[in-house]
Amino acid sequence: MDCKIFANELPDLVLTAGAKPSLAAVAHMKICPPCAEEYLSFQKTFGMLDAWIAPEPTPYFNQKLAVLIREEQAKPKMGWFERLETRLKLNTGRNFRPAMVGALALALLVSGGSIATLNNPGQQAPIAAPSPALRDLQILDRNEQAFQQLDSLQQEDEDSQPAVSVGSPSS
Ligand SMILES: [Zn+2]
Repeated sequence: MDCKIFANELPDLVLTAGAKPSLAAVAHMKICPPCAEEYLSFQKTFGMLDAWIAPEPTPYFNQKLAVLIREEQAKPKMGWFERLETRLKLNTGRNFRPAMVGALALALLVSGGSIATLNNPGQQAPIAAPSPALRDLQILDRNEQAFQQLDSLQQEDEDSQPAVSVGSPSS
């Protein structure tokens, strides 16, 4: 077996659960350190992926999302100027830029220069505070996260203790 054949067999080998390298592949890895190294690194990577558990979404995620959607729906409809502003902020298309410049110039003419206050945070309406329902959910969520962190810290502690007592003093 040469490196080319080995490279062809490698995907099957690492992607099939429980697959063992053929005798020819093992023989090749013995005489070809680069191929052996590649196989081992793939094995390590996939081993880590197998052990990885996707994190659960935080508790109350669905409730929080539902509250946010309801609040967004309950908001008053935007005025024409807000709609124009949103459109300008969201649109990054190149062909829209001349129109954007024109619209801003027009807005400047119409507003007699007061458009400058748009970029002045001092004169902007304050950002609406989250509703009590959302705030409660956020607090619950934060508490839950804190408990989870405590749990995982404790877990790490328990995991590391035997390793420390068994490990060599040099480490
Ligand atoms: Zn090789």
